[in-house]
Amino acid sequence: MRAGQRRRQSQGGWRGGLLIVGGLGLVATAVWFLWQFRDRLTPAPTPITGKVLYVHAIDVGQGDSYLIVTPERKTVLIDAGLAESGARVTAFLRQQKISSLDLVIATHPHADHIGGMGYVLEAVSVKNVLDSGQEHTTLTYRRMLEAVKKHVGRLTIAKAGQQFNLDNGIVLSVLGPRQPWLQNVSGSDLNANSVVVRLDYGNFSMLFTGDAEDETEDRLLADGAPLQATVLKVAHHGSRHSTKDRFLREVKPTIAIISCGATNRYGHPTQATLDRLKRVGATVYRTDLHGDITIAANGTEYAVTTARQATPADIWRGRQPGTDNDSGDEMPRQRTGR
Ligand SMILES: [Zn+2]
Ligand SMILES: [Zn+2]
Repeated sequence: MRAGQRRRQSQGGWRGGLLIVGGLGLVATAVWFLWQFRDRLTPAPTPITGKVLYVHAIDVGQGDSYLIVTPERKTVLIDAGLAESGARVTAFLRQQKISSLDLVIATHPHADHIGGMGYVLEAVSVKNVLDSGQEHTTLTYRRMLEAVKKHVGRLTIAKAGQQFNLDNGIVLSVLGPRQPWLQNVSGSDLNANSVVVRLDYGNFSMLFTGDAEDETEDRLLADGAPLQATVLKVAHHGSRHSTKDRFLREVKPTIAIISCGATNRYGHPTQATLDRLKRVGATVYRTDLHGDITIAANGTEYAVTTARQATPADIWRGRQPGTDNDSGDEMPRQRTGR
């Protein structure tokens, strides 16, 4: 009897030990699982309902590409990244079930903005292309013009004062460039005469600045352009040459979005620009850290969602200054080609 009881007791102890080990294993697995998927478990912001306007900052590495989709499905693409990003932009459009674009804006003829344009124009039907009107000597620029001629047959030159009524109450206004074009600026003339547009929908607004330079900002300020905006697409990938204090004081952005590559060698975004954005109280999102960034706005409220999460320490840390030549052009470097 005693031996039997002892056996049962020892069996009981053995089973208890197994249960403890198993339990600990389960807890460890659960902790590991939660840690792996910690980003995805962050509660999503309250969904924006009603007639929703979407602005997507497409992660194209070092370059710019923004997609606007209105509640009535009017679509505007601003820039298309480098040539190798054409497929990525097109895939994004397909993902959004977009097979035609009402307007494509080429902010200026640098390859990190128009490189992917040819691919996009070939893949989806485009009704109109708005261009800065500045010519460039590169093959990339010539290819874009050929694609526009072949697939669109229409090129509109941007002029401050033009307006595009997207849906009822959703307006895209051209703020720049204007004649005479800015010349002999400290950085690049092509950047300085980028197409600058603002998007308005109720109390939501967004300013798209292309690769604007310091002089572009000064001219917009001098012209008394309507600059105050909820969201600022930070100029020139966060370069130190733009997004100056006096400009930010006028824009007063709540949100600032920087398009730049995770491995860019140009020092984008720079610490100086991030510090200026911090001083103005903007919340910063970066495609190099957050991936694709989407803003949903219904005219009274808005929300920002990102493909990935980033820590404040990473967001506010600039990259090491580099050459600051981000044009990605295949031509020999020249002063006006940056
Ligand atoms: Zn540029
Ligand atoms: Zn650029």
